[in-house]
Amino acid sequence: MSKYWNSRVKNIIPYVPGEQPGDRKIIKLNTNENPYPPSPKVIEDMQNALNADLRLYPDPDCIMFREAASLRYNVKLNQVFAGNGSDEILAFAFGAFFEKSAEKKEGERQVLFPDITYSFYPVYADLWDIAFRKIPLAYDFSINCSDYKMPCAGVVFPNPNAPTGIPVPLADILSLAGYLEEQSRVLVVDEAYSAFGSESAIPYIEKHPNLLIVHTMSKSASLAGMRFGYAIGSGELIEGLCRIRDSFNSYTVDRIALAGAAAAIKDTVYYEMINSRVIATRERTSEELRSIGFDVLPSASNFIFIKAPGITGLSFFKFLRDRGILVRHFNKEIIEDFLRVSIGTDEEMDKFLECCREIRRKS
Ligand code: PMP
Repeated sequence: MSKYWNSRVKNIIPYVPGEQPGDRKIIKLNTNENPYPPSPKVIEDMQNALNADLRLYPDPDCIMFREAASLRYNVKLNQVFAGNGSDEILAFAFGAFFEKSAEKKEGERQVLFPDITYSFYPVYADLWDIAFRKIPLAYDFSINCSDYKMPCAGVVFPNPNAPTGIPVPLADILSLAGYLEEQSRVLVVDEAYSAFGSESAIPYIEKHPNLLIVHTMSKSASLAGMRFGYAIGSGELIEGLCRIRDSFNSYTVDRIALAGAAAAIKDTVYYEMINSRVIATRERTSEELRSIGFDVLPSASNFIFIKAPGITGLSFFKFLRDRGILVRHFNKEIIEDFLRVSIGTDEEMDKFLECCREIRRKS
C-alpha cells in the first residue's frame, strides 16, 4: 500500500493472469493459447508492415481490419470495433454500457454475470464502480439464461462459458437479449472461444441492437502474443465503445497488429483446419479421461474442465507441475477440485494423459 495511491487503486483487486513460464520445456496448458502457429499469411503481412511507415501513427479507425471483418460476418463497417485484445474491449463495454445510478433501485443498478465465469468481469465492475450480482450456475454447471431475466444494469457472460467450457444455447441468448431490450439494457456475449464449437450470435445483431459480441484473436487465431480483439454490434453500441476509447487512447491497435488481424480474419481455410484439429484432440482427450474415471464437463472450447477422482484439485495441479505440465487451478469454492486444461498438440495431450493414468493408479 502506498501513500501515493488514490482510493480507487487501494481498493481494486487486480486480475491475475495465468503464468508465462520462461522454461521452454514445460508443457504449457494453462492459458488456452492455440498449440498451432498463426496462418503463414498473417506472418507475411506483419513482416511487410515492418517498414518506414512505422514513423506514422496507425489508422485510429482500423479500417483495413473492419472492412475485412464486415465482409466475413456480413455486417456493416460501423458495426465492427477493433481493440487491443478483447480484455480491453470488455473493459470499455463495462465503462460504456453499465451504470450505477443513484436514482435506480438496488437490483437495477447491478450488472449480472455467472458466479463461475471469467474472473476479469468483477475486476472491471469494481474499476468502473459498477455494482454487480453473481448468478449461480445450474446444478450441471451450465448457464441458465432465464435466471438473468430480472431488473438489472445489464448482463455479461462468455459463450462457451469459461472455465467450464459449456456452451449456452443460442435460442436462450436471443430470448434474453429480447427481454433486456425491453428494459434498454445491454447483453455482452464474450465469444472468446466460440470458434471451438458454440454457435455465434453475430447474425442476430441487426435484430437485437442491445447485443454486443466480443471476439479475440488470442485463441482461435493463434495470436495471443499480438494482442487483438474485436466486437460486433449495432452502430450505437460500437459508437459507445469508440467514445470510451477516444477518451483514453485513440491508437490502441498498432500498424503491425492491424496488418496481422486483417490477414487472420480473411484466412478462414487455415484457421478452420487448425481449430478442427484442436476440437478432435479435445474430444479424444475427454473420452480417454472419462474412460479412466475422471469427471470432464462437456466442452465446446479449446480447454476442458476436469476433476480427478480421490484427489484435491491442488494436489492434482502440483502432481502435474512436478512432471512439467502446467495447467490452471482456481482456488475458489465449488470449483476448487477442478483443473482447467488447455488443449495442446496430440503429443502434449498424450503426455498429459500418461500423467492422469499414473495418478489414477496411485489414488
Ligand atoms: N474472455 C475470456 C472468457 C477469456 O478467457 C479471455 C482470455 N483470458 C479473454 C476474454 C481475453 O482475451 P484477450 O484479451 O487475449 O483477447
